[in-house]
Amino acid sequence: MDLDLHDTWVLTNYKSPSQQARLITERWFASQMYCPNCLNLHITPAETNAKVIDFLCKNCAHEFQLKSKKSKISGKITDGAYRPMIERIEANTAPDFFFMEYLPEEWMVKNLFLIPRFFMNKTIIEKRRPLSSTAERRGWIGCNILFSKVPEEGRIAVIKDETAIRKEDVQKKYRALAFLDSKNYAQRGWFADVLYFVRKLDSKSFSLSDMYGFADELEKLHPENKHIHEKIRQQLQILRDRRILHFDGNGRYSIVK
Ligand SMILES: [Zn+2]
Repeated sequence: MDLDLHDTWVLTNYKSPSQQARLITERWFASQMYCPNCLNLHITPAETNAKVIDFLCKNCAHEFQLKSKKSKISGKITDGAYRPMIERIEANTAPDFFFMEYLPEEWMVKNLFLIPRFFMNKTIIEKRRPLSSTAERRGWIGCNILFSKVPEEGRIAVIKDETAIRKEDVQKKYRALAFLDSKNYAQRGWFADVLYFVRKLDSKSFSLSDMYGFADELEKLHPENKHIHEKIRQQLQILRDRRILHFDGNGRYSIVK
């Protein structure tokens, strides 16, 4: 994998540096990136009028979107329209999301992270305020992706600090929790949110009551569910079945790896 963006550098009529950068990074992505699901080395740019999809793997039909920025990838990332994003998540048709940080002086890819489509859930999509009445697209509502609210299992490094990770390792991480792909968005969301809070405890072992401490936050994220404690226990069981957690007995849990 060549991390140099000069090879895909193009002169364009774009006046805006961000549009120019978008074109360059997209060309780089099309020429250098592989499919994290099946390791197909050729991914294909999709039709330009597609609302959310930017790239496609013709082997396994996975779809990808790339967001690039020159500042550090953390916290929230501005994305496109809010409603189509939510509809795709609910319909289980969200693409895999890639987030690139590039060095604007050197034109090098510094970091590239991947959020698998099955970790794209409603609680990491933040609705932005409608555009003001003076804007051209008055009333249009965009969204932010809350990158920092995705559990670490869902933030897979493809390039880290200017070093490409072995693609077999990327695929292994990608596929580790791919069982979520067949779940509906509510189940996926619960799994990701409980895993996020398990990671937030930042401890090798913890108790059920530690997890119940997040009940209020989880209730805010899932207002439709009235059985929060039951859901927490259910997700902890799935985490055990996936060998992420070990049940130590007496309401204690430990992290396997
Ligand atoms: Zn593929």
